[in-house]
Amino acid sequence: MHRVDMKIVLLGHGAVGKTSLMERFVNERFNESLSYQNTIGAAFASKQIEVDDQKLILGIWDTAGSERYDSMTKIYYRGARAAIVCYEISNQNTFNRAKHWVRELRSVEEKCKIYLCATKNDLVEMGHEPAPSLDTVEIYASGIQSKLYITSSKTGENIAEMFREIAQDFLSDPSNREELKQELISLSVNDKGSSCCAFLHRR
Ligand code: GDP
Ligand code: MG
Repeated sequence: MHRVDMKIVLLGHGAVGKTSLMERFVNERFNESLSYQNTIGAAFASKQIEVDDQKLILGIWDTAGSERYDSMTKIYYRGARAAIVCYEISNQNTFNRAKHWVRELRSVEEKCKIYLCATKNDLVEMGHEPAPSLDTVEIYASGIQSKLYITSSKTGENIAEMFREIAQDFLSDPSNREELKQELISLSVNDKGSSCCAFLHRR
């Protein structure tokens, strides 16, 4: 059983590196030798982080990227407070797919903050060209009031920093802090009484 303070969903085209990103953040590892496995449906992991003396349990949903699972993906981002919309830094097609997710989230999940994540930056360091150019992506990101993170799960670049900033943004909203406090109170009340479902999703 898990208690989750903040739900985060990973979205993006298949093979952009969503599962690797979760693996890097949660377990601090990258396994290139594993043959590519398409995530079926979605996977879940949680991790506690501490930001400004406040402990926060992040619940992370890693979704499948292909169109085949589009209608199912809605189930996973429902109630998410942050979405990390991923695209592969040198693959224009995956950027177009990211824009699709942004449009969709905007229309259905108003409380969900969007973070744009360029994955596999180690490839650029190896000589691959960013596509679209990073200037174009920055302009797009600011147009949707989103931050852009340039990351690599292979090297670990910017992964922990991105999750930390997402948690910080969440906690900087006083109503979220208040909600957290209330939840802790109700949990401690429940702990004294009969056992009750401890799996909580924040909406
Ligand atoms: P998903 O379908 O979005 O979950 O993508 P995966 O995490 O399964 O990764 C797809 C492929 O990209 C795998 O072969 C990974 O090893 C590779 N990959 C993921 N992240 C990185 C990265 O940061 N750098 C490089 N070079 N390859 C990566
Ligand atoms: Mg996956």
